[in-house]
Amino acid sequence: MTARSAGHHTRSMFALRADHAFDGTRFVPGGATVLVEGERIVGVEAGGFPLPEDCPVSSYAGTLLPGLVDAHVHLVSSGAVGALEAVGAQSPEEIDAQIERSLAAQAAHGVTTVRDLGDRDYRTLAFRDRRAPGSPRILTAGPPITTPQGHCHFLGCTAATPEELRRAVTEHRDRGVDVVKVMASGGFLTPGTDMLGTQYAVRELRVVVEAAHEAGLQVLAHAHSLRGTEVAIDAGVDGIEHFTGVSEEGPAIPDAVLERVAQKAILVDPTMGSDLAMVELLPPPPPQIGELMERFGMDRKTMFTSRFELVRRMRAHGIRVVPGVDAGAMPLKAHGNAWLAVGDLVRSGYPVAEALAAGTSGAADACGVGDVTGRLAAGYDADLLVVDGDLASDPAALGRPVAVLTRGHAV
Ligand SMILES: [Zn+2]
Repeated sequence: MTARSAGHHTRSMFALRADHAFDGTRFVPGGATVLVEGERIVGVEAGGFPLPEDCPVSSYAGTLLPGLVDAHVHLVSSGAVGALEAVGAQSPEEIDAQIERSLAAQAAHGVTTVRDLGDRDYRTLAFRDRRAPGSPRILTAGPPITTPQGHCHFLGCTAATPEELRRAVTEHRDRGVDVVKVMASGGFLTPGTDMLGTQYAVRELRVVVEAAHEAGLQVLAHAHSLRGTEVAIDAGVDGIEHFTGVSEEGPAIPDAVLERVAQKAILVDPTMGSDLAMVELLPPPPPQIGELMERFGMDRKTMFTSRFELVRRMRAHGIRVVPGVDAGAMPLKAHGNAWLAVGDLVRSGYPVAEALAAGTSGAADACGVGDVTGRLAAGYDADLLVVDGDLASDPAALGRPVAVLTRGHAV
């Protein structure tokens, strides 16, 4: 029994009740009744908790859980082929209109917190500070730091020398970002970047890490290549995005690297949650990617499904996996795919409760907001999701939202 129960009932209080519940870390037998007042959860009670007569209640046969967190999105991009690259030439009005659409799609799919890891001109910060009712909470890196002509250079923040790197971090700090994103390797989507190599030397990346840590900010490194991953680990980054491990031999992360990542407690987001049903609809890959896949003996589907075995090994090594989709980067990665990323953890051998925890409380902790969202607990923001079905026996129900609240506001 929590403090704000029937005896402290106020008129603005309402309740959500469901036959099944997951509280952010575990399933709650018998379901739950969550009491909400304003933007906050004020009580979490048993499924059959007697409510005062004048307290409005919405009852559901499905599962009530905290809203999902997507730890890697690009709100400026729709996900259509070439959309991210096109952002470099768009007006602020066009960019803002896409950010609105991306946020709406995320919220509609039960995502109540997004972490943007690459915008243009810091456009996402105004949306973060506006806190529009019914829209997801935003954490943002602003434009990612990359080399001139490097991966995502068109987003507008390039730095080549240690002095430029330090200045870039200082600008990000002054703008008020939540985290720093740096491109340690090339990317699949930027023609001309080196997929197998590294964009910065260890001493250069270390400048970014030191400057960011001085500012109280974590550093997340984008790394598709194995060499870029090793440079990022050596430089002391806090998290690695993608973690594809591509080398001349193909995508593979050796056990020795997994051991170092685990030992340094680096958070890894393997950017799963791709909608593989859409693979057939894609145009042929750009030549530089087609050649690589041919050399590795892989097609696009196996490029994605080979991640399940990697994530299984990561879990066995005790690495903390953060589910982020890279939503908006490509057609397979739609805004709102966070539920698919949780499903991919299950396909990688995670027990359902552990996968759901990773997508709620775990991702919230990783994003630094684990004390306000990601859990059904009194005092937490009322970021809530109800899905159609019993998640314990039917994890795919996560893709069937029936009610979503962000900070107490219905989506
Ligand atoms: Zn990305």
